[in-house]
Amino acid sequence: MTGRQPIPASLARELMLESGYRCAVPTCRTVEPLDIEHIDEYATVKKHEFSNMIERTSITTHDSSIVVTWR
Ligand SMILES: [Zn+2]
Repeated sequence: MTGRQPIPASLARELMLESGYRCAVPTCRTVEPLDIEHIDEYATVKKHEFSNMIERTSITTHDSSIVVTWR
């Protein structure tokens, strides 16, 4: 995985605030550990964009369709 830009700190903070520092999946809401993920693959969109990103636990695998429906 090369050429991937780091997520700007300001964007990461916005995502954290939006989700209330919890996993953004309504059925989960785990507090930590959290990861920032892209809803559409980064390889496809090639940018970090608030509307395409979400806070999720890094320990649980979520069905991505759950997130897309919720958004
Ligand atoms: Zn979760």
